[in-house]
Amino acid sequence: MTNQSRSADAALRARAARVVPGGVYGHVSAALMSAGTPQFFARAKGARVWDADGREYIDYSCAYGPNLLGYGDPRVEAAAERQGRLGDTMTGPSPVYVELAEKFVSMVTHADWVMFAKNGTDVTTAALAVARAHTGRRRVLVAAGSYHGTAPWCSPVTTGILADDRAHRRTYTYNDVESLERAVAEAGSDLAAIFVTPFKHDVFTDQELPRPEYARRCRALCDKTGALLVVDDIRGGFRLARDCSWSLVDVQPDLSCWSKAIANGYPISALLGAEKFRDAASHIFFTGSFWFSAVPMAAALATLEIVASTRYLEHTVALGNALREGLHERAVAHGLGLSQTGPVQMPLILFEGDPDLRLGVAFCGAMIQRGIYFHPWHNMFLCSAMTESDIERTLAAADDAFAEIARIRMTLRPHEGIAALMASMSAAS
Ligand code: PMP
Repeated sequence: MTNQSRSADAALRARAARVVPGGVYGHVSAALMSAGTPQFFARAKGARVWDADGREYIDYSCAYGPNLLGYGDPRVEAAAERQGRLGDTMTGPSPVYVELAEKFVSMVTHADWVMFAKNGTDVTTAALAVARAHTGRRRVLVAAGSYHGTAPWCSPVTTGILADDRAHRRTYTYNDVESLERAVAEAGSDLAAIFVTPFKHDVFTDQELPRPEYARRCRALCDKTGALLVVDDIRGGFRLARDCSWSLVDVQPDLSCWSKAIANGYPISALLGAEKFRDAASHIFFTGSFWFSAVPMAAALATLEIVASTRYLEHTVALGNALREGLHERAVAHGLGLSQTGPVQMPLILFEGDPDLRLGVAFCGAMIQRGIYFHPWHNMFLCSAMTESDIERTLAAADDAFAEIARIRMTLRPHEGIAALMASMSAAS
């Protein structure tokens, strides 16, 4: 790969840096990219993305979660286009608002109502407001390292945020019942909510499925104290189950938060809740200029229909199993130890003995050069548009990439930007 072939990306980075603070911000900022990782994408279709220089990748980031069925799924696009011809952002909601609400509530066991917004942070923050409005209490418990969005109460980095903004937030350790009990006891009569992600899917560290006794204890402690149990299903929603993800451990939350995959890439999020919390939910001030847009709702309705009526999930899991097994075999053959954790359809791949991720960063860089978009520290996603032949191509690339990093491993150095993010996140949690 020559520098010449990355010229469009380089030119866009330089122009962005002049007119946008930091160029491209957040989790896709240049500071977190390794050499050879494209920052700009020109188009996407099915399981593939094309970067600004026209190179094609099988995309295992899936836009960090929204791509569930394949980019530009024709069934979803047809619904969105139909609605687009009628109207999108209008003076009030379209009838599809009600149709989508009815469909969503019919699919999610714990839910009797739903409210729509745009981003995940909108609905995690609203969930906390509903919990506080319902209980009249202040304290919120989150698992250390869990991501719930960018608002002051939950941001993983605290630059520009006051200690006062986070005064009533405390952390516990995911899956650790004792630490949860301690945090609940310490909150006393001031506990408003316990937030959980459906499984531990934090960056930089092995993922963990929820222990059933932990999930049950979360429920029991909320029942005992009157606090609300909130499942943040923004990343996992419809990737694990056709219901709230904690239906898999037989625990029903009071509220659940959804976004990312629910409209296969169209911008919409949803807060779902049980009857008991309807009154509090109807009294918080909840609105936004684009929150009633009809096109994303039509896309979400089509997505939910596909979720309910097809085997997209089983297909994705089967591919995930083949990927995990195939990567394991090939890594071992090259003398490398992988730690592949979490559900197979949302894999995180770390290397054993690689605390600063230098091997992982080099491996993903080598995969990207071979047309496979892998991520070294955020969980990845498979989408149902992937095929067995995509997995075979991925494994062939991995074989080469493992050989390359096994050869150069002694020359690898830590990635400065990633080390800096790790340090600021551990200071904030
Ligand atoms: N919660 C979880 C579990 C998430 O993964 C995310 C987004 N990565 C959010 C909340 C915040 O969503 P958004 O970026 O749309 O505000």
